[in-house]
Amino acid sequence: MDKECVMAVDLGGTKADIALIESGNIIREKIRLHVKEYNDKDALIQALVTAMVDMLSRSEMSVGCCGVAVAGQVDPGGREILFAPNLQWRSVPLAALIEEGTGLKTTLINDVRAAVWGEWKYGAAKGAQDAISLFIGTGIGGGIISCHQIVSGCNNAAGELGHLVVMIDGPQCTCGNHGCLEAIASGWAIAKAAKNSVGKDPELGAAIVRQAKGADITAEHVTMCAKRGDPLACLIMDRALQALVAGVISIANAFNPERLILGGGVFLGQEAWLEKIDKAVRIGALKAATDKLKVVSASLGVHAGLIGAGIVARDLCRGV
Ligand SMILES: [Zn+2]
Repeated sequence: MDKECVMAVDLGGTKADIALIESGNIIREKIRLHVKEYNDKDALIQALVTAMVDMLSRSEMSVGCCGVAVAGQVDPGGREILFAPNLQWRSVPLAALIEEGTGLKTTLINDVRAAVWGEWKYGAAKGAQDAISLFIGTGIGGGIISCHQIVSGCNNAAGELGHLVVMIDGPQCTCGNHGCLEAIASGWAIAKAAKNSVGKDPELGAAIVRQAKGADITAEHVTMCAKRGDPLACLIMDRALQALVAGVISIANAFNPERLILGGGVFLGQEAWLEKIDKAVRIGALKAATDKLKVVSASLGVHAGLIGAGIVARDLCRGV
């Protein structure tokens, strides 16, 4: 029986991707469910299980185990979703429910942690002894690899790099604190800053409002306006970049990584940021902390979560 083929699920706030992954990290088959199409938690879980059973029945290969990357907090044993804010799920024993429905031994992992695994085993951090991943998307997540180990902390909560404080009197974050990196440089923070400025000075914010075409202003709208040189959009994006630089300097000084992997939708939309961050961290951080540092873009893109879920599934099969 080929235990190397595994099932991987990336369960986010808006979509759930389900895939079969062969050894060598090849995505063999993938389908996507849209979360909004299901009335409640039970309906979505049932749809997930049905889609997985269908996929298993179509597959000519034996499938060993299942890994599920979840946008939320997972218990240290990988059995239960403790809290998934975007889905508003609390205390959901998802691993057991999938096992019951599919017969596949299942483990859960936080999606950012899964992406860190993916980049470390197969992507931009491959082979690194000490590396940091920082994903700048709607929120900001990260992961720390130290001495060939992912740092998990005593309560499985290490790597929350989005909540590094970079401005002590800065804007309030979703965590309740003020001045977190996420509260300035994340997609939601960029959108919020733009909305606030538009509200205060509609004339200054006119280009961003036009770009949004009546829809809710997003970081993407601000990015597009900044690329055309709109003063307000440039100001907001520069502030986000400065916050990122401050965060990266602290990270370099604290962890002395050989590689810093930057990814996420907001980062990937800014062609100039990689070089600017690279230069600024070498100026701002201690020389010994950056001598061997390489700052690189994440390489697995949207599949990082799935691939990371596949890795934990494979480890589960092997009894690691
Ligand atoms: Zn925070």
